[in-house]
Amino acid sequence: RSKLASEVLARVEQENVEFIRLWFTDILGQLKSFAIGREELAGALEDGMGFDGSSITGFNRIEESDMVALPDPSTFAILPWRSGETHKVGRMFCDILTPDRKPYEGDPRYVMRRALERAKQMGFDHYYLGPELEFFLFKSDQAPEVLDRGGYFDLTTLDVGSDFRRDCVFTLRELGIPVEYTHHEVGPSQHEIDMRFADGLQMADNTMTYRIAVKEVAQKHGFYATFMPKPLYGENGSGMHTHQSLFRGDENAFFDPNDEYYLSDVAKAFIAGQLRHARELSALFAPSVNSYKRLVPGYEAPVYVAWSRRNRSALIRVPVYHPGKEKATRAEIRCPDPSCNPYLTFAALLHAGLEGIEKGYELPAPIERNLYDLTERERQQMGVDHLPESLGEAVEEMARSELVERALGSHIFSRYVDLKREEWLEYRVQVTPWEIQRYLPVT
Ligand code: GLU
Ligand code: MG
Ligand code: MG
Repeated sequence: RSKLASEVLARVEQENVEFIRLWFTDILGQLKSFAIGREELAGALEDGMGFDGSSITGFNRIEESDMVALPDPSTFAILPWRSGETHKVGRMFCDILTPDRKPYEGDPRYVMRRALERAKQMGFDHYYLGPELEFFLFKSDQAPEVLDRGGYFDLTTLDVGSDFRRDCVFTLRELGIPVEYTHHEVGPSQHEIDMRFADGLQMADNTMTYRIAVKEVAQKHGFYATFMPKPLYGENGSGMHTHQSLFRGDENAFFDPNDEYYLSDVAKAFIAGQLRHARELSALFAPSVNSYKRLVPGYEAPVYVAWSRRNRSALIRVPVYHPGKEKATRAEIRCPDPSCNPYLTFAALLHAGLEGIEKGYELPAPIERNLYDLTERERQQMGVDHLPESLGEAVEEMARSELVERALGSHIFSRYVDLKREEWLEYRVQVTPWEIQRYLPVT
């Protein structure tokens, strides 16, 4: 038994934890959970727990229904929203194994592990991530009814969310997730809580935890928190800008003191890789019909495939270097939204960056102008591409991508494409209120 496993068992004993929830994620990024009693725990840590995987989205229907969830003891935490009770509830993230105990190719956590393995083989020990998840707080899940009319950084009585945000910070901290910033965002009733950066796999787990924790805390306050990317017409949407860097040991491989942008060749090729493959990855980082209503000009969300240092309309922003801060040199990719599957998104982003490094892609010059203001013609002359404008366009782009197929493995790749094509088709045949309003009276 590993040291970590023994520590988990000791903690469960000491703190009187009665149930342990075993968490994993389906291919669409939905958290899945089943609970075991404390007496099962030692066995589960050793051999995993069998479960029927046949009804999990993206898993196999029949032939692989006897799956095994193997808990990762490094992820043990006690759920704060159950801890007021005498019998506490703990949780661990699991790796999913096949009945013959091989890593299951339908498990998003495995996709992330494989991406990190590729980085490791190229000499990078860490892929550090700092995602900034934004979300809205509504009165209920039935309609997007806002709670305040606050705006960016507002702290007034307008902001009924400040107690709620403080509560979220405590809850996340108890779950082992340090928080760096919280603030009211640009939209009414829109908030942002930023976790301290962490290594790839841990951050994908943390992102899953963050979403459920924020929803739990909102519910406790009588609100509904949503990560839907664009719930309000005419207001900013919710993004998940993701700050990234690659480290060798504790050295930032993105930093070069002698470069005009303080970026190493590694960083430049990495960014070039993400720019070149952005369209293929789009159905992952912006996964729904609604995601593409966020990626439009005018709302601080990226539309055009370019990089920049100050300009927030660019897809990738490299924050300006401050002396002594070489560890903080990083690339912020601004297209992901917080409804995505973080394992698949982070894995695909990493593969795209590594592809750039491996193949020595050339980084184009940064564009510091506001890209929203460029005409179509100017953009074409500058060779600036745009992101897909719809889920339909994104999924077909992904379906042609050799890189994404390699990143996800053919099992998840083909299921994901099928599911997203279905979703697009379902949307395409809808007749919306906008169409009725616009066309019925004049036609
Ligand atoms: N809400 C914006 C987005 O959709 C981002 C605002 C910001 O710069 O934080 O990405
Ligand atoms: Mg923000
Ligand atoms: Mg940001």
